[in-house]
Amino acid sequence: MRIAVLQFAHETVTFLPFDTTEDDFRYPGSPATGEALLATDPKGYMGGFVQVAREFEGVELVGIESPLWPKTGTGSGWITNEAFESFVGRQIEQLKVQGPFDGAYLALHGAMGVRGVPRPEAEIARRVRAVLGPAARIVGTFDPHGNEDEEFLRHADMAFCVKYFPHYDMHLQGERAARMLVRAVRGDFVPSHVTLKLPILSPTALQWTGASPWSDLVQRALTWEAREPDVFVNVFFGFPWSDVPDAGMTFQVLTNGKPDLAQRVARDMADWTWRRREALLGTTKVLRIGEGVTLAKQAVAEGRTPVVLADHSDRSGYATWLLREIIAQGLSRTLVATIAAPDAIAGLMEAGVKPGDAVEVEIGGRVDPSAGEPVRIIGQVLLVADATTARAKGRGQAWVAIRFGDGNVVVLSPFLVQIIEPDELWSLGLSAVDYDVIAIKSRVHFRRGFDDSGFAPTILLVEPDEPFLGTVRLEALPYRHLTIGDYYPYGAPAL
Ligand SMILES: [Zn+2]
Repeated sequence: MRIAVLQFAHETVTFLPFDTTEDDFRYPGSPATGEALLATDPKGYMGGFVQVAREFEGVELVGIESPLWPKTGTGSGWITNEAFESFVGRQIEQLKVQGPFDGAYLALHGAMGVRGVPRPEAEIARRVRAVLGPAARIVGTFDPHGNEDEEFLRHADMAFCVKYFPHYDMHLQGERAARMLVRAVRGDFVPSHVTLKLPILSPTALQWTGASPWSDLVQRALTWEAREPDVFVNVFFGFPWSDVPDAGMTFQVLTNGKPDLAQRVARDMADWTWRRREALLGTTKVLRIGEGVTLAKQAVAEGRTPVVLADHSDRSGYATWLLREIIAQGLSRTLVATIAAPDAIAGLMEAGVKPGDAVEVEIGGRVDPSAGEPVRIIGQVLLVADATTARAKGRGQAWVAIRFGDGNVVVLSPFLVQIIEPDELWSLGLSAVDYDVIAIKSRVHFRRGFDDSGFAPTILLVEPDEPFLGTVRLEALPYRHLTIGDYYPYGAPAL
């Protein structure tokens, strides 16, 4: 059994001013081919897929040249049409050269935004299908922030989507994709599925599955999977910062040749969710930055530390609103990680600074109105270290930490960085005991390391007063490819 393995994944914030270019996907290690591709992301989708596929005898995996995540992470806008055509074009060429294949695994995300291609994941599936032919089986793995409609499963046979946010089950869904692909190729699983869209558009900061009713929604899907063998329920929460026609919530239900059952389960999931729509969007409270910083101060005074201040709304990495407010309200022992400041880093590196050197730098701001004004920091270099987050590690990125004020530290990075695990800070060389407050840029991912781990007793989600592009007030975004009034809570759509 010959299986082609391809990846093309991005979560595109289409409202950002900079396009994601072919260059952004090219760096040491990307694109990846053959065994190198199969060895990427061992704890994620790819790792799960490869592990289980190799448990079967006679299965050959062929890694087709694939771009990994762009070096800009999620901090860049529309993927250019040239980049999409270039990478997918090569993938299709290689499929032709290296075929025939019995099946294909597509490691996708679902919220890729490509100029001129309204449904990129479905388009990839369509082109792969055209090469592999109708008898082949095609499976994709997805992030719950995917924006998908019935188009993907028109061309592919199966999809498996992560259930939790933070995304705890990426490896598990990769494992599933492998097992079900092998079974489908052997004819032991005959995919019969239903896709249902639900007109709910929600900011990702409100989609944390650690609290009810989001946790109940996950549970409902798990219950269906437990009580009906060979039923798989995908719940896409959707990604509202991709201005695409298929944005919003989506359910996919897969069965083994039982279309009526697929219909019944999808209906139940949609009805159940629709009845709780108000509560779903009210789970998480988002504060304005001023109020959040005041509450952080109060929590420190009451000993409820460490305090996490999470600016969920910064989409470029350059936003300085929270840093500015921390300085204005005179917080001490506060760690700000990170502010995107490639120019400042370049300048400091060129000057050959070392720990202890006095520095004066202008950081952040400027790239667009949501980033605010740059902030001048006068302080001392604390350390220069290699990037430690999973996506930035090993790419030769230097991060610089500067000490300023009363025990405060700001970490500079070249791009937007989401700190997810406290260890990503400590392995830079910083020390947990030095800080009462940690200010990060993350929506929900940080809950993995800071909340669900029991690390921080106080967690405050904040955003600036003005509804910039990362806001939970989605009505402020300049959508062009969808009508926001078609979605709850911005209009009164019927189910
Ligand atoms: Zn996601």
